[in-house]
Amino acid sequence: NQSLHDLDPEVAAAVDAELNRQQSTLEMIASENFAPVAVMEAQGTVLTNKYAEGYPGRRYYGGCEHVDVTEQIAIDRLKDLFGAEYANVQPHSGASANQAALFALAQPGDTILGLDLAHGGHLTHGMRINFSGKQFNVVPYHVDDAGLVDMDEVEQLAKEHRPKVIIAGWSAYPRQLDFAAFRRIADETGAFLWVDMAHFAGLVAAGLHPNPVEYADVVTSTTHKTLGGPRGGIILARSTEFAKKLNSSVFPGFQGGPLEHVIAAKAVSFKVAASEEFKERQSRTVEGAKILAERLTAPDAREAGVDVLSGGTDVHLILVDLRNSALDGQQAEDRLHEVGITVNRNAVPNDPRPPMVTSGLRIGTPALATRGFTAEDFTEVADVIAEALKPSYDTEALKARVKALADKHPLYPGL
Ligand code: PLP
Repeated sequence: NQSLHDLDPEVAAAVDAELNRQQSTLEMIASENFAPVAVMEAQGTVLTNKYAEGYPGRRYYGGCEHVDVTEQIAIDRLKDLFGAEYANVQPHSGASANQAALFALAQPGDTILGLDLAHGGHLTHGMRINFSGKQFNVVPYHVDDAGLVDMDEVEQLAKEHRPKVIIAGWSAYPRQLDFAAFRRIADETGAFLWVDMAHFAGLVAAGLHPNPVEYADVVTSTTHKTLGGPRGGIILARSTEFAKKLNSSVFPGFQGGPLEHVIAAKAVSFKVAASEEFKERQSRTVEGAKILAERLTAPDAREAGVDVLSGGTDVHLILVDLRNSALDGQQAEDRLHEVGITVNRNAVPNDPRPPMVTSGLRIGTPALATRGFTAEDFTEVADVIAEALKPSYDTEALKARVKALADKHPLYPGL
């Protein structure tokens, strides 16, 4: 029963250093968040010891009576949260959920239509060397010159290629998708509609974003982005039509034993996501992203030469366009890192620079909103970012402003 610090001081030291990094810097990677202590506590329980292949009430192992309880709670809460009749909480990650969903709806060799990776799609929506791109015939759709998903192109490609599955979802896109239009196109062309809401699931849970469960045949998500839970994946559907196929695609199709400790943590996070406090946090998240978009394109930020794709945001992130800036994506990411703000570089559509460099940044607000940042704090963050991206800037002064913000909103006090 030795503690981590006693048993393995090397690993413990790195974990402590990571806690310190999270506490002392401003986390603005759009796909990250801070899980509540209770969620991390659930994930660190003895449930990690249990094998439970199968589903609640129908397991291939004995002794599952307690993990049946936690898994069923997770399923019921998830169904309630999104108004779904079907939920699977076992996928180990978002990519695992997507793999299981795609193989439940289509066969290798079938045609799938997904948003191009370089235009904001995810690897699992058809990237060439991902399972989706290797095993399916991928037809990508794109964003138009205004940075919006080109629904005319989606319709034209769907009519031309008759895909088995149309994928609506994104990893880097600052607007809401038109699910009704996707549904209409899927119906007209005989395709299944799969929505990957990994990024915006928290906004949906809070009622700040249309709910894809009402439109799609299948919906997948991660649980650790805006939803604010442990790392993991989920699958949902408005009806039980695909329940058998989806369940058997997850287990035994792609996975063995479910991570019951993570599933218990998912259950806790779904309880949090149904709360008023969570709704209020999600509205600060969206408000913060809107403030970033406004301040970075305001007259006194002009000197930085940055633009915001699509002219703003409806969600928890903005996409900064650096094509008219002296900095490329890598340099801008490094600059912000230097003053204590963590973001990731991101290709803009038709990016002239290679993917390891890029001409853009993706900046998100979920983690800072969880930390308690208000509109006033987000205004200060935006102004620090705008200063840091200008040709000349005072590193020490900006570091001090970042520190003041981090100190104002302590993260995990007492940990
Ligand atoms: N789907 C979307 C839209 C994502 O953005 C991501 C992660 O970035 C995933 C799926 C994959 O999630 P994971 O990293 O848990 O496999």
